[in-house]
Amino acid sequence: MGILTSIFGDASSKFVREAGPIVNKINALEEEMVKLADSDFALKTASFRQRLKEGESLDDILPEAFALVREAAKRKLKERHYDVQLIGGLALHRGKISEMKTGEGKTLVATLPIYLNALTGEGAHLVTVNDYLARRDAVLMGQIYNFLGLSVGVINSQNVSYVYDESHNQKDAERDQVGEFKIVYDFLKPCSRREAYNADITYGTNHEFGFDYLRDNLANSMNDVVQRGHHYAIVDEVDSILIDEARTPLIISSASEDSGDFYIKFYQIARQMKRDVDYTVDEKMKAIALTDEGINKAENLLGVGNIYTEKGIKYVHHLETAVRAQAIFEKDKDYVVKEGEVIIVDPFTGRLQPGRRWSEGVHQAIEAKEGVKIEKETRSSGSITFQNYFRFYKKLSGMTGTAATSAEEFLKVYGLDVIVVPTHRPVVRRDAPDLIFQTEKGKFQAIARKVKELNRKGQPVLIGTISIEKNELLSVYLRQEGVPHTILNAKNHEKEGEIIAQAGRVGAVTIATNMAGRGIDIKLGGNPLVEEEHEKVRNFGGLFVLGTERHEARRIDNQLRGRSGRQGDPGETQFFVSLEDDLMRVFGAEKIKNMMGRFGIPEDVPIENRFVGRSLENAQAKIEGFHFDARKYTLEYDNVMNYQRQIVYARRQKMMVSNKEGIDELLNKIIEEREGAKKIIEEKKGKLGEDAFYETVRRIVLYVNDALWMEHLEAMDYLRSSVNLRAYGQREPIVEYKKEGLAMFKAMEYSLRDQVFSLISTMNEPAQVEINQPKQTLVVSHNEPSEVSGKQEKEVGRNDPCPCGSGKKYKKCHGA
Ligand code: ADP
Ligand code: MG
Repeated sequence: MGILTSIFGDASSKFVREAGPIVNKINALEEEMVKLADSDFALKTASFRQRLKEGESLDDILPEAFALVREAAKRKLKERHYDVQLIGGLALHRGKISEMKTGEGKTLVATLPIYLNALTGEGAHLVTVNDYLARRDAVLMGQIYNFLGLSVGVINSQNVSYVYDESHNQKDAERDQVGEFKIVYDFLKPCSRREAYNADITYGTNHEFGFDYLRDNLANSMNDVVQRGHHYAIVDEVDSILIDEARTPLIISSASEDSGDFYIKFYQIARQMKRDVDYTVDEKMKAIALTDEGINKAENLLGVGNIYTEKGIKYVHHLETAVRAQAIFEKDKDYVVKEGEVIIVDPFTGRLQPGRRWSEGVHQAIEAKEGVKIEKETRSSGSITFQNYFRFYKKLSGMTGTAATSAEEFLKVYGLDVIVVPTHRPVVRRDAPDLIFQTEKGKFQAIARKVKELNRKGQPVLIGTISIEKNELLSVYLRQEGVPHTILNAKNHEKEGEIIAQAGRVGAVTIATNMAGRGIDIKLGGNPLVEEEHEKVRNFGGLFVLGTERHEARRIDNQLRGRSGRQGDPGETQFFVSLEDDLMRVFGAEKIKNMMGRFGIPEDVPIENRFVGRSLENAQAKIEGFHFDARKYTLEYDNVMNYQRQIVYARRQKMMVSNKEGIDELLNKIIEEREGAKKIIEEKKGKLGEDAFYETVRRIVLYVNDALWMEHLEAMDYLRSSVNLRAYGQREPIVEYKKEGLAMFKAMEYSLRDQVFSLISTMNEPAQVEINQPKQTLVVSHNEPSEVSGKQEKEVGRNDPCPCGSGKKYKKCHGA
């Protein structure tokens, strides 16, 4: 890693050096820009667009465009982009990752390249980690874009969309005061999804951009398609999105029919399984493996001789899932049970994620274990990893305070270079070495004492924990010491933002999970700023960030530290860790603990031991490696799917624009493969007339395409778990997966033509499709995907039009 770091370091300084002349050019243009009248800005934008049309490149107009944006920011926000911000913006324009520390003003940096790249009119996307930040940044930066004559859209979850709307100027003062953490909604006008995408610039979360892509590929006509291509994107907090979130693909789904009893049966079996006898647990990989003994036991309980041959892979999958639910998923850590619902706890933020469900039956297995109502399993109707979604962009870029430690992954997976941009002012924050305790209790006691001491002198403290439960626990210790504090267990990001924005006030003690309030600036002395208080806090030593546990990734620890010491502010950070922390427990802290016990060190007295410190960092490096591999694995599998997805989606897209050639292509293939098909097809064409014929076939293909694709997705899921089981032999699972996946895909393609043909054979009147017993039961759920494999599909009413597109009522068609 040492060599790599220095290579990246060199590339960064080279980039910064070479940016020098461009920065000078931009600075030299300032005099000219200052002279512009307010009304000239939009005209400038128009003239840039004209010049692009006439053949100039974005690079040609970059200095002028950046200078213009800077001038707009000066007038509207009273902020002038620092030179380092210009460099950061340049890196983003070049399709790189700008690593800029927290508080360096990345929100403002993004305005430069987003403006420039939006000039081509193909749409530029700014991707944020949550809905709140998308709205906040659109409202705050919207005034710059609007001034420059560009439109801004926002896409949020639950299909809520806005366009930036300036007809509320009387609120401008309020926005300038609190706009960094509070959204002034008057500037957001609700609109259709399509309108938000048609804006020059669109702010939204990675989830929504991805889901819209999947939804677009389930649409039944071009009117329902909302995205217009993938031209340029800046991903804010890029490590969080492209790395932390990249382990699980996005899935949209519809309900399927496995009954609750099914899960209860497996739960009852799992309950009787004994750890290390019937199954083993690999804590690092969060996996279990059934032993022969365990399999025998399950077979007895199920009353079958051989589960693999008699019941097949589906049963094995459910059995494993039930055991995992029992052995790995911990209540109040991985999930909580609230009002009869199992709610996921986000491992990175510790926040509850209502509505989100684990897929492949895991959620149901946990519901069975907890004895709550078992929701219907949902079936995937489309899925994609963030890796593959973001690779669509012709130009992709990102920004974050912490990218360098993952530079290798960014380069290998996304082809993204990391440029470390120098800070505007030197960092003077002091990062003290970790204090290591034997027990968690000892650690918490020491933390409470430390916080009390800091609080007494008035220095603000931000305490980072790894979960909401730890927040509560710590709160108890602080109360015992009589330290007043705020716990950040906010249910929503906006509330959280308001609290965290004040974490730098005199005497503030704020407990928050590591990533809570990411994206919100902590100003010393609070926000809006009180000058006097600001000075006071500076003299106390700035914000003290106290980490209560090392995270699995060093990057997240750095992120937490970065909350302090922004823009040259004073600040301090220190981690308090214990040998009982998950990270240490998993990586054999027993030895160390015994050693400490032998020396008779009390539990609330820290040790500073180089050996222990090092083993902690080794543990982190090891886990980072695991996760990197897990993501590579996810990606490798998704790459197989990606190939198939592109074929299926391309076909859909052809069908959506009712492209006759596309249909003929398919029909020719059908004719080639099937005797007598030509005659039937010609006959139907004659009977219905060309237009009606093609329209009906188009609908049939769309319908069959989607139904088979859904089944195929499920089959591929099962295949994936089955190849993993087979890995006990010498065969490599991914190779098997590719081979069998391809065979299954071919079978699906054949089956598609089969079903399309059989439907064509039965069509009689225009736009009516009679179906005589299709060879496979087609899924007839509504193609209206819910967010994350979450809420249930709307069911098709008996009097609704049949989703097959026949135009008939459902009860007279597939519902009959
Ligand atoms: P980051 O995303 O890099 O952590 P933010 O975009 O949240 O930082 O900005 C942090 C703070 O710095 C904000 O209060 C913002 O208004 C301020 N800021 C950013 N750039 C400038 C600038 N050029 N001049 C003055 N203030 C700035
Ligand atoms: Mg930010």
